[in-house]
Formats: sequence, structure tokens, C-alpha cells
Amino acid sequence: GFWVMGIAGISLIANLAVALLLRRGAEEDLNIRGAFLHMVMDAWMSLGVIIAGLGIALTDLTILDPLISLILVILITRGSWPLFRESLDILLESTPPHLKTSDIVATIECLPGVKKVHDLHIWSVEPRIVMLTCHVLVDTHTVPDKDQLLQPIQSTLSSKFGIHHLTLQLETKCPETEDLHCNLSYLTNGSSTKDPILPHLHHH
Ligand SMILES: [Zn+2]
Ligand SMILES: [Zn+2]
Repeated sequence: GFWVMGIAGISLIANLAVALLLRRGAEEDLNIRGAFLHMVMDAWMSLGVIIAGLGIALTDLTILDPLISLILVILITRGSWPLFRESLDILLESTPPHLKTSDIVATIECLPGVKKVHDLHIWSVEPRIVMLTCHVLVDTHTVPDKDQLLQPIQSTLSSKFGIHHLTLQLETKCPETEDLHCNLSYLTNGSSTKDPILPHLHHH
């Protein structure tokens, strides 16, 4: 009994030390955060073993062992949910939580020469790398050469939102300017794009 508790105590200290080392990097990087959470979980486990061991040694209540295990499982499941959630968002390539689509659209549309932004996609491959694609309808009276808009849009999105990777389709006319987000079911369901009753076809 005391041997197990001794080993658990050593592993608790080791886990806490590594967790402290990882904590700084954990805020930014999903992989480091995963390792950090793993260390914290191991630390909880060790603590549980120590508490259970002490409790059983002092009171002879063997029920303490499964009871504490159960509590630990609940704690660990709750602790890893945000990580799971964030990983899922990345796998689904949904818009990162700290970016507001409406802010980004408004910012681009404020630039002189931009008439309208549509067919916007924002996703992240990992939390620090955000990708953006969109169509930008250009007012040729203000900006005769639409390529001149590329640089201002890039630098604005980069400085204001930290989006450094973007693919823009600068256009002077587009049949589907009303849809800010294209219906992604067009992209995933190939056969439906041939359906003539659809309001418009997407042209990726
Ligand atoms: Zn378009
Ligand atoms: Zn699209």
C-alpha cells in the first residue's frame, strides 16, 4: 500500500512539474495543450491514488478506491471537453471563435472601391493559421484596375485580424452576390448541383 502511494507521490510531483513547463505554450498550441492536459490528468490520477490509499489505510473503507476513480473520470472528462471541442471545430473547418464574420466583411467593404463581399469562407487548419477565401465585387469607377485592391485588402486583414493567408476573387460582376455564405451542400453533394430548381449554381 505505502509503496503504491510513494510512487504515486513521485509521479504527482513529476507531472505537476512538466505541466508547469508546458503551461506557457498551452494557450496557443493545440498539441501542447493536449500534452498539458494529459499531464494534469496524470497528476489528478496520482493524487487520487494517494487520497484513496490514505483513506483506505486510515479507515479500512475499500469503497473509497472505486469512488475516487469515478470522481476522477468525471473531472477528466470535463477538463478535456474544450480541447475536444476546439479540435472538432478545426476538423470541421468552422470559423474560429475569436473572429467575427460580420466584422471582417464590414472591414473589407469599408475599403474604397469595394462594393460587396460574398461567398466568404473562413477556417483554420490549426488555431494560429486562419485561411480566408471570398469574392470581392469591385466598383470600377473608383478603382479602374481591380488588382489594385488586392494589396489594401491583404494588409488590412493581416493587421486587423491576423489573417495572413487569403484567396480573393476580385470581380466586376457576379451572379451570386446575394449569398454571403455559399450553401456548402452544393460542394458536398455533387449530384445536387445539376438540379435545375436550385436558385444558383456555385462556381468553385
Ligand atoms: Zn462572386
Ligand atoms: Zn463558396
